[in-house]
Formats: sequence, C-alpha cells, structure tokens
Amino acid sequence: MSLLEIRDLTVTYGSGASAVPAVRGVDLTLRAGQKLGVAGESGCGKSTMALALLRLLPASARLTGEILLDGEDVLTMKWGRLRAVRWAGASIVFQGAMHSLNAVHRIGDQIAEPLLVHGKVTPTAARGRVGELLEQVGLPAARAAAYPHELSGGQRQRVMIAMALACDPRLIVADEPTTALDVMIQAQILRLIERLVADDDISLLMISHDLAVLADTCDRLAVMYAGRVVEEGPAREVYDAAEHPYGRALSSAFPRIGDPASRRAPRGLPGDPPDPADLPGGCAFHPRCPVAVEVCGEQDQELREAGAGRHAACVHVGSGS
Ligand code: ADP
Ligand code: MG
Repeated sequence: MSLLEIRDLTVTYGSGASAVPAVRGVDLTLRAGQKLGVAGESGCGKSTMALALLRLLPASARLTGEILLDGEDVLTMKWGRLRAVRWAGASIVFQGAMHSLNAVHRIGDQIAEPLLVHGKVTPTAARGRVGELLEQVGLPAARAAAYPHELSGGQRQRVMIAMALACDPRLIVADEPTTALDVMIQAQILRLIERLVADDDISLLMISHDLAVLADTCDRLAVMYAGRVVEEGPAREVYDAAEHPYGRALSSAFPRIGDPASRRAPRGLPGDPPDPADLPGGCAFHPRCPVAVEVCGEQDQELREAGAGRHAACVHVGSGS
C-alpha cells in the first residue's frame, strides 16, 4: 500500500470573486521509503499542498479530495488523531527556520516538547533523546542549551530537522529546506536529509523550485504548474527529458554540471506564471507554451501515460506527434 496517496486535492483560498484556486485536482502517490520531489515556480501551489497534508492551512482555505496517510484520510480525521499524526505520522521542515523556532526558548527544550507531549517520555529520557537527535543532525549535544539566535542559518535548519525526526515519523515533508541557505550549506543539509531518510527508512516529500536539487535527491519527480501536476515520473528521466513543455522549460532553466553550453544559454521561459485568481482558459500553460496549438486554449489536459511509469498533461503526449 502507498504511504501517502493524494486524490483529486483541491485547495481554494477565500470565496466568491476573490477566490484563489491554489491547488486544482492534484493526484500524487508516495510509497513507503520513496523520495518524491515536487517542483514548480513560485506561486504554483507547492506550499499549499504541503500544508494541506497536515491540515495546517488557514481557516480561509477550503479543501476537497482525499489525503490518505497509511490509508487514513487526514482531511476527515478527528482532532486528537490528527495531533498524533502530525508528529509520528509525518512532520514538516519549513524554509525559514528562524520563523519556525521560538526565539525565547532554548533549542533543546523546543526539540524535547513533542517528545514530552506525544512520546510520553520522562524529562530525563527526553534530554537524552535531544542529545542523540542533535548528534544525528551533526550538532554537539551541548548545543541544546543554545538559543536560536546563537546558531547559524545552517545550524538552525539542522535543529528543524532534529525536531522533525523527534517522534520517528514515517514521512518527512521538506518545503524548500535549503532555499534560505548559502550554496555550500545547502549541499550539506541536502546530504544530511538524504542520509537520515535512508538510515531510518523514512519517506520524503521534498519541495523546491530547483529541479536540479530534486533530481539529485529524489526517486520520483512531480512538476506543478498553476496548481496542477503537469508531469510525473522517475526523477532523472523527468529532469533529463521532460515530456511536458513546461517540464522542459523548467529543467533548461538551470545550468548543468559538465554541460558548459547550458550555463551560457539557459533557455528559460518567456512571461510570468499566471495569477491563480485569473487563470487563462484551457491549459493554464498555453500562453507561454512554445508548442501550443489551438485546442490548448480551449481544453485543459489530464495526466496521461507518457512511457513506463511516466505521466504528462499535454495534448502532444501520447498522440504520436
Ligand atoms: P508556492 O509554495 O508554490 O510558491 P503557494 O502554495 O505558497 O505557492 O501559493 C499558491 C497560491 O496561493 C499563490 O497565488 C499565493 O499567492 C496563494 N496563497 C498562498 N497562501 C495564501 C493565503 N493564506 N491566502 C490567500 N492566498 C494564498
Ligand atoms: Mg512555497
């Protein structure tokens, strides 16, 4: 069975004329032990989807569809059960560690809190576990006494990862975990996440605007555009040879190691992503698409098979053209 199965997930902020459809009918599957990357430009709905997984969205958000975690629907589960799932089922590492950590509490106390509340361990046992967790993420156990402002950005992100690991989750959701960090530190944090999920057989859902980072870290890759998944498949294949024209544009936007030509001339993409409150008709990508034909402006495309284990939502896919 899949660890996580998202079925026809739709999230709309607000209502009436000002409604923002941030996620529009997303289907995604993550098997136990798998690492799934979700890529797409800023504003395409990645964080909204991540927050929906643990029902962390503001009250103005309306959700439909199903989010099955180990077969249990997160969207309909009772509050008490949801609290348990938020720690032991899945936990989230966010982009800005400084905003997620409490500035006036020592980091050791912050890591210990879920252990005391959900893990039902004694304070002494929690202290011991905090030390272990800090060492697991490459920090000395003595750093437990530090306040967030005494740590560097990379160290704070390590603390966030320690917190996410505290209650032995089956799934870690990492939303742009390295975006706010220097390039050298980014690589360290990525390798750390990779090692931890491999050691403990944790599944990973990693979100990034950077396709290259995801192709490097994940087994599978989904590309989102304007609230929809437009392509999905094995990470390397999607990165190297995307089927959807948006996937191709996104992968060509990053220079490739060993390919100096790509460094000189990233093809990129003309125009801006659409405003979700005012989406173009048909396929939302068609105004920017280099291979759009007439039907693209009239009819949106569903994901369809595009080779073994691959799917893409484009009129040109599977049509032989
Ligand atoms: P991403 O993480 O891919 O950058 P988001 O999920 O943050 O995208 O945002 C998707 C869309 O939803 C954007 O148009 C954004 O402006 C809008 N949005 C995000 N959060 C809210 C909110 N709390 N209220 C209203 N609109 C929101
Ligand atoms: Mg985001």
